[in-house]
Amino acid sequence: MEENPVIPPSSPKLGKVYLVGAGPGDPGLITLRGKYLLERAEVLVYDYLASKKLLRYVPATAELVYAGKQGGVCHTHTQEEINQLLIDYARQGKMVVRLKGGDPFIFGRGGEEAESLFDAGIAFEVVPGVTSATAAATYAGIPITHRDYTASVSFLTGHEYPGKENSNIDWASLAAHGGTLVVYMGIKNLPVITENLLKHGRAATTPVAVVRWASTPEQRTVVGTLTDICQKVREAGITPPALVIVGEVVRLREKIDWFEKRPLFGKRVVVTRTREQASELVAQLEDTGAECLEYPTINVGPLESYALLDEELERIKEYHWLVFTSLNGVRYFFEHLFEKGMDARDLKGPSIAVVGKSTADLLRQYGLRADLVPEQFTAEGLAEALMDTGVGGRNILIVRAKVGREILPETLRGAGAQVMVVPVYQNMPPPGIHDALVADLAGGRIDAITFTSSSTVKNFLDLLDAASQEELTKLLGGARIAAIGPITGKTVSDHGLTVDVQPEQYTIEAMVAAMVSYFSDPHESCQATEPT
Ligand code: SAH
Repeated sequence: MEENPVIPPSSPKLGKVYLVGAGPGDPGLITLRGKYLLERAEVLVYDYLASKKLLRYVPATAELVYAGKQGGVCHTHTQEEINQLLIDYARQGKMVVRLKGGDPFIFGRGGEEAESLFDAGIAFEVVPGVTSATAAATYAGIPITHRDYTASVSFLTGHEYPGKENSNIDWASLAAHGGTLVVYMGIKNLPVITENLLKHGRAATTPVAVVRWASTPEQRTVVGTLTDICQKVREAGITPPALVIVGEVVRLREKIDWFEKRPLFGKRVVVTRTREQASELVAQLEDTGAECLEYPTINVGPLESYALLDEELERIKEYHWLVFTSLNGVRYFFEHLFEKGMDARDLKGPSIAVVGKSTADLLRQYGLRADLVPEQFTAEGLAEALMDTGVGGRNILIVRAKVGREILPETLRGAGAQVMVVPVYQNMPPPGIHDALVADLAGGRIDAITFTSSSTVKNFLDLLDAASQEELTKLLGGARIAAIGPITGKTVSDHGLTVDVQPEQYTIEAMVAAMVSYFSDPHESCQATEPT
């Protein structure tokens, strides 16, 4: 410990350390203040219990330091080293976020870290977090206090050996007062804990719940009584991190359990979309309880040259139709337009057709209304809708990806139109994720794979790179396949695979609804419709 430490004069600015509670596991349970600080971190020091999903908020330029710690043992740094690390980074003038599972001051040694920062003269702030005790109770459907059952709750650690001399835990009074008990780090010592409570007079029938990885897709809850919970936990193979909740309130789980009852809880789903587009599907799947593993099989990027688009923009007035076949088509088209100092006013002349409602909605944001949206949101549907307007001799400009299906331009040409196809972006499978995907699929750990376009199917299969049909089937490990519509579904079956789920309406909502009904009754309903 230093006396009167000083910041080195070379330090350009004063650093500061923020001890931030990450919450119990569900990344949605961090505070707004915590997220605000993550977004500004220059250094992030995080540990085992903090959700890795929170790392997405940290700037790409930030330095990430994993401080480990599992089962109370830190494999990468000792507590003293962590304290010193925080001090050293702050002395370099860095904005340091120390992200800790749950709440920093509840069995998290946050107190010790703050003390050591104080002793070193480093500025710090502490942001509370949702502690795992309340989260585990809430997510297991157990109100830790309830007017009919108990007016008190105690948080304690099971790590302190209850039989040890000078124990801080007064088992006699904890057993006697009858309030709810929540025990952190109590799995290893569960036999001693239950024994102590029984010895000091807690009823043998007192219900006990053990909740592992609370608030995450891996949450598991085992319920028993003070006499049989140890055996049940052993049989279920429950290992840390888990919390033990003791008290009559555990009985309420029968009615209040909500988290584990969501329709796709426990299901692991691969989402194959571009990174920027995946979020809506992921959000909707997660709302149903599914765990999403995101595989961006397509990276969308700009073209090297926009000379062709520039040429056509020069003569845009000669076109009768301007056609957008994807969201990215709209985005990249306008990006280039704006770069040239142009905007929607320069598109006067052609009518505008789009492939579906989302594309029309996006177009509105750029200040243009689509004149034509087909009823069927496919290239075929769009071709038909355009042909209904009479395309013979008309000039049509199609804006799309560099490599795309030829069905639209071919059909329109067949109907006598003059068609020009202009690419504005390209799809490329990202490098280096093959191994991660194969590992995730291995051992049948994936319940479903979702495809939202033919190119996601193709890129996914390219990524898997199976040598033969048998190997492909083996790699997929029995995962079910969900396709958003018939075109995507056909691409799946063209590759020798079976489509298990395909909604009637080609929207993300309908696809998620179809997956829910498939998994609640896998044998009956292979095809489901969007609920009205
Ligand atoms: N500061 C943390 C607790 C750290 S002590 C907090 O406020 O939650 C570590 C113990 O917390 C684990 O052994 C386990 O008992 C409990 N714990 C943390 N996260 C948990 C989770 N998601 N599910 C169940 N128990 C958890």
